[in-house]
Amino acid sequence: MIIIDGSEGEGGGQVVRNACALSLVTRQPFRITNARGKREKPGLMRQHVTAIEAACAIGGATCEGVAVGAGDFSFTPGKVVPGEYRFAVGTAGSTGLVLQTLLMPLLLADAPSRLVLEGGTHNMLAPPFEFVAKAFAPVLRRMGAQIELRLVRHGFYPRGGGRIEVDIVPGKLTPIDCIDRGALRSLSATALFAGLPFAIAERELATARQFLPQWPEDAFAARQLPEEQGPGNVLLLEAAFDHATEIVSGFGRLGVSAESLAKTAAHRMAGFLACDAFAGPYLADQLLLPFALAGGGSFTTVKPSRHALTACDVIERFTGQRWRFTQQADGCHLAAMR
Ligand code: AMP
Repeated sequence: MIIIDGSEGEGGGQVVRNACALSLVTRQPFRITNARGKREKPGLMRQHVTAIEAACAIGGATCEGVAVGAGDFSFTPGKVVPGEYRFAVGTAGSTGLVLQTLLMPLLLADAPSRLVLEGGTHNMLAPPFEFVAKAFAPVLRRMGAQIELRLVRHGFYPRGGGRIEVDIVPGKLTPIDCIDRGALRSLSATALFAGLPFAIAERELATARQFLPQWPEDAFAARQLPEEQGPGNVLLLEAAFDHATEIVSGFGRLGVSAESLAKTAAHRMAGFLACDAFAGPYLADQLLLPFALAGGGSFTTVKPSRHALTACDVIERFTGQRWRFTQQADGCHLAAMR
């Protein structure tokens, strides 16, 4: 049994999700103590419980101690059974994070699957749908994966009610090297809003324009969603290159002005555009698991986050593989297996 102290490293939910995925793929049981030990409210939240229960459902696994607030639980994997599954997070918890838990085991299964995931599609501290569909999934497709994603309905915090559908056709994953992101192809800034005044989107776009002065005028657009999908708002900044796409998001929430979230997002995007890295900070921590399960490969990225370093530790516990980030002359960091 692999024992993981869930308060080590970044000490959040990603440890739990990666451990479930790795356990299902490598068929090794694990126990986590102090789950999410570094978070303000430690212990499992509703969305982690859903992710673990979903992992049990697709993987014939059993778990002990899994409940909202629990810090200590164990997970014993069985055989992954591909098929049609529907999981509802029950709150506005992120569908993208539940997908993070299930995707690799189903991609490495022996028949296709369809997932319907209900909950939040645009949550703070989680990959928004567009990030999964445009930044993450295309890299997996280059490795040979067949994944199709559809956003059926948006879900914002706190109301939720979103729905995504994912078709997964398993196949062998081939290690790839993602060093060069290629030439810049397009830029866009989209302010999505539902059930909120149009002025919020306008203020976000005006601020983004101010801090991204080189972006063309037609890159900026507001998109109003049906009122009943709100209230909710997110600013999505997208830079598409030949071989990579980065999506930086700013989530609207009470107490944070439209100007402030747009300024932060624009600065983050400007930082990414100024370097030559293939993967931004979030994509980097999310690529480590599929790359590890493909057996190698490499990618360039920005300075590795704690999430990325912690993902490396959890991967090593299950597979023995050691990932290393090496800073290169151009300032980018190269992630590769040692
Ligand atoms: P944790 O904080 O441990 O629950 O992990 C959060 C996960 O969500 C990590 O895999 C992050 O890369 C991902 N994530 C958080 N915020 C974003 C964002 N704005 N865009 C893309 N991915 C994100």
